[in-house]
Amino acid sequence: MALDGLKSRLQQARRILPQVERPNPLSVAKPVQPPPATRNVALRAHLGQDGFDAGNAAVVHGAPAPGPIGKTPPEPTPEEARRAAIDRAVETGEPQEFVNSDGETVTVQIEQTRWPFDGDTRVVRVDDEEFTVKFDTEGEVDKNAMLTQLVDSYSETPEEYRGELDEVVITSDTYETDTGQPAAASAGGNKMTFYNNGDFLTEEVFHHEMGHLAGRKAENSNDGFFDDWFGEPSPVPPGWDDAARSDGNFVGEYAEADHDVDGDYTEDFAEAYAHYMQAVDEGPEAVEAFQEQYPARYEILKDMVPA
Ligand SMILES: [Zn+2]
Repeated sequence: MALDGLKSRLQQARRILPQVERPNPLSVAKPVQPPPATRNVALRAHLGQDGFDAGNAAVVHGAPAPGPIGKTPPEPTPEEARRAAIDRAVETGEPQEFVNSDGETVTVQIEQTRWPFDGDTRVVRVDDEEFTVKFDTEGEVDKNAMLTQLVDSYSETPEEYRGELDEVVITSDTYETDTGQPAAASAGGNKMTFYNNGDFLTEEVFHHEMGHLAGRKAENSNDGFFDDWFGEPSPVPPGWDDAARSDGNFVGEYAEADHDVDGDYTEDFAEAYAHYMQAVDEGPEAVEAFQEQYPARYEILKDMVPA
């Protein structure tokens, strides 16, 4: 994925954020309802009938008095819980429960490979599938943060395509796309590489790269015996080029720029897959909006990614 496109989308997202995050004045003004003295109506009725004395009633009610608010440890946010699960997985090597950002629970196990020539390589097992993560990084990097992001995005990937990822490399190297832009990441041959010490390892970039791997599987699934004889076609599902032409647009500037260079729809598909994954996360309205803008592409993606 090209950095320029990513940056411009991050800027767009920032422009949108102030509207999205502005607190609703109505909800702020809404008075907090005091809790009823006894929430359990059945219990109250029971106490009334049986004539428990005040002492017994107090025992029955006897939930411990809440301590000062400052002393109650705050519930971890879902992000904090995901990070804590990865910290434990790395520290213990034991399987841990991990609730991904879709709210689905997977089991994660992370072990260091024992071969010295592997460098810092981890074997990451998510339910029944596994992939390796190699850190060829320089300086201080937050490896567990990257592992958290990888496990989260991987576990969101449709099960049919998870097996397409065998290897992740995080490198201090840099790289250029076919359009001559600096690249955040690249993918092919069951491998995903994140450049710049993994600075751009985000959900969006992961799904874009996973789109390249999923697109290759979808492309291969349609192959007859001789289909790849004269060179592999671009890694997009059967019918994608026609779908893109029928929609009459591109899924972003980078997809268009890449098509201008090589005439294929490789980046268009990866971008569309990443957008669609995001729409599925956001809910039915976002999926409908995607369908409206890219009706022919939607027909292909809806079969690849269960909403
Ligand atoms: Zn790409």
